[in-house]
Amino acid sequence: MCMLENCIFCRIVKGDVPSSVIFENDLVFSFLDIHPFSQGHCLVIPKQHFARFEDCPPDVVAALAQALAKIAPLVVQTVQAQGYNLLVNSGLAAGQVVEHAHLHIIPRCQGDHLIQHSPTIQYPPCRMEEISNHIRELLH
Ligand code: 5GP
Ligand code: ZN
Repeated sequence: MCMLENCIFCRIVKGDVPSSVIFENDLVFSFLDIHPFSQGHCLVIPKQHFARFEDCPPDVVAALAQALAKIAPLVVQTVQAQGYNLLVNSGLAAGQVVEHAHLHIIPRCQGDHLIQHSPTIQYPPCRMEEISNHIRELLH
């Protein structure tokens, strides 16, 4: 399994750096975020080092999704929240600080104003078609 000596999350998976562990199986590890947006804010990560979410192979993505589905409602129940956001920051521009793929589970309560919705934009004429056509072409 590929792990990096200088990666904080690889070190957490190995147990070299302590963490508040929630869940662990062959492929996935989950622990509380040390700088939470709300109580119960946790991270779900592949045990193996992949820099970004999209670098994870399908079996790892499936294992992450299964773990999320299991963990998220239990986190919400534990901290008596009312819902949660799943967040993936992929790339520096998107706010990814730790270069080991991870998903955030952020418990939410009505009116907590934690994650504000940005104002929406308007497409110039034909741009929606251009974008969707281009992505479909790339997928071929
Ligand atoms: P990112 O901005 O890369 O999506 O989020 C990385 C997250 O990892 C941050 O929310 C940060 O608080 C958390 N984090 C960074 N280092 C540690 C650590 O050593 N222990 C724990 N538990 N969380 C960490
Ligand atoms: Zn790593």
